[in-house]
Amino acid sequence: MSDRIHTLSGYLHEYQKSATQPEEFWARIADSFYWRKRWDRVLKWNFDEPNVQWFVNGKLNITENIFERYLFTIGDRPAIIWEPSDPNEEGRTLTYKELYQEVCRFANALKSKGIGKGDKVIIYMPMVPEAAVAMLACARIGAIHSVVFAGFSSTALADRVNDCEAKAILTSDGNFRGSKKIAVKAIVDEALEKSSVETVIVYQRTKQDVTMKDGRDFWWHDVIASESAECVAEEMDSEDMLFILYTSGSTGKPKGVVHTTGGYMVYTKYSFENVFQYSSGDIYWCTADVGWITGHSYIVYGPLLAGATTLMFEGVPTYPDAGRFWAIVEKYKVNQFYTAPTAIRALQAYGTDVIQGYDLSSLKVLGSVGEPINEEAWHWYHTHIGQNRCPIVDTWWQTETGGIMVSPIAGITPTKPAYATLPLPGVQLCIVDPEGNELKGNSVEGNLCIKFPWPSMIRTTYGDHDRCKQTYFSTYKGMYFTGDGVKRDHDGYYRILGRVDDVINVSGHRMGTAEVENAINEHPKVIESAVVGYPHDVKGQGIYAYVICDMTNRTEDNLVNEIKEMVSKIIGPIAKPDKIQIVPGLPKTRSGKIMRRILRKVAENSLDNMGDTSTLLDPEVVTKIIEGRK
Ligand code: ATP
Ligand code: MG
Repeated sequence: MSDRIHTLSGYLHEYQKSATQPEEFWARIADSFYWRKRWDRVLKWNFDEPNVQWFVNGKLNITENIFERYLFTIGDRPAIIWEPSDPNEEGRTLTYKELYQEVCRFANALKSKGIGKGDKVIIYMPMVPEAAVAMLACARIGAIHSVVFAGFSSTALADRVNDCEAKAILTSDGNFRGSKKIAVKAIVDEALEKSSVETVIVYQRTKQDVTMKDGRDFWWHDVIASESAECVAEEMDSEDMLFILYTSGSTGKPKGVVHTTGGYMVYTKYSFENVFQYSSGDIYWCTADVGWITGHSYIVYGPLLAGATTLMFEGVPTYPDAGRFWAIVEKYKVNQFYTAPTAIRALQAYGTDVIQGYDLSSLKVLGSVGEPINEEAWHWYHTHIGQNRCPIVDTWWQTETGGIMVSPIAGITPTKPAYATLPLPGVQLCIVDPEGNELKGNSVEGNLCIKFPWPSMIRTTYGDHDRCKQTYFSTYKGMYFTGDGVKRDHDGYYRILGRVDDVINVSGHRMGTAEVENAINEHPKVIESAVVGYPHDVKGQGIYAYVICDMTNRTEDNLVNEIKEMVSKIIGPIAKPDKIQIVPGLPKTRSGKIMRRILRKVAENSLDNMGDTSTLLDPEVVTKIIEGRK
């Protein structure tokens, strides 16, 4: 394959080409896809409105680039391997041919319910193959999907349903979570009390009791029963909306990030194949949920566009025990494994005994995504899971970027713990100071921007284009602002420092919360920590640290003092936390990110306006933190 990077010099060469001749570069990559009509122009753009169009006037259907493209060559190869939550239940495998038929049947069912091109469809489903079928069926007929993580509350779901004016919801009766059954359909019913949704299709998963509303609610197996397994794909424009995805909400009201068809298709396949160095026949597993951008780009679209075998896991890492991930790796001989630092740290806390006895020798590549991976977790992952043999790809990207932006190419780019390393071809990074001046050269630190469009970038925020402009394109003129701080070291390698609103200014010294957290985490008794700034009379801002600790054989006082000493030793006395609160847990979004704005409110003692907390994994934790406040 000509799009494949095989060597470091090959990467440097491709990068150079993509930066000097971006249009020629992307036209060459896009040429390997199937277009009903080729584009007239590769790129039209300005970052002021913003208005970005890739492969202008190209006509295609993304699912033809999965099915029509592969059916006659690798139609019998597994497309999706599914592992259920309960290890005693049989898994399922769908070949490309079988997946195609399921997608067509369901696409026809959607059509017979009056759903078509341009309609919005919410998918609120557990991690079963039908979730992917639902997404692809929408794409087949030109409907716009918006997947909402099936653990969100009815309020969070209702907000999203109403924001995108969904015509239909695809859901399930229930969902297995560890040993529990969650009543998914009941949550949907509550969310739909005041909405214009006309159709609800319910996939039967747990067989629990549900109420079905006459004329609105239908069983999945009933609606597909008499449908044909062929469905001609709708012709879409490159810039037609493919999906809306609401971001996890760690920084405020969820935004409906809009991705379009052509550019997203080209970029997700290209980045998937290169970053993970996927080879034909490999078994690839990404542990994310499809309700998250990682699930969209690197469980469903990227792998399937590449003809890969993608594993989907319904359950959680600790059920029935903390060895589950490794049992699955052994069972299916997984070659590429992609997960989040939060999962790595959680499993790290169980020790290495739970890994012993599993054969992890099939693994070739390990991936990390979602937040900065601290050095300790990086080394643990590398040593105990990768057995010092597998390169780690620390992939930095965002819902808004659609695909991986900064990452090693597995086995090709030399890695450094906690560094996302170098940008992928086509990604023109730029570090700016707070005034927007570009910081050139190496050994610099500032705000991460992107100065040239890439194919899978956000086009708008649904229903509110101005919000897109204000959030991403107004802070620094002519640039996309990521909201993240970054350091480029003496080798030109990038290290993401976390969000810039997470920077604390103590007596004029700016430091990233991640830096202080890393120092705190060096203490052997610390499991996880989160640091925020709060108003301080003398220093401007003080440092408030929330720390989860293993308290065996320790008192709170001596631990707090030891942690302060630790930070003082590693960063300097200036970074010594003013307040340390030992907490039982941290407020996290469903995708595992700490909601720092809540911790900031607690630290500032402004408890009356906590903002949107509907996407929190465990709202109880907030109450406990407030009670134990320093
Ligand atoms: P919201 O935008 O609603 O606050 P979110 O930013 O948490 O939600 P995502 O788009 O999933 O939702 O997350 C992107 C952010 O995650 C990045 O901006 C960055 O802060 C962080 N991130 C992702 N991957 C990495 C990584 N490999 N290293 C460091 N940070 C990462
Ligand atoms: Mg974000």
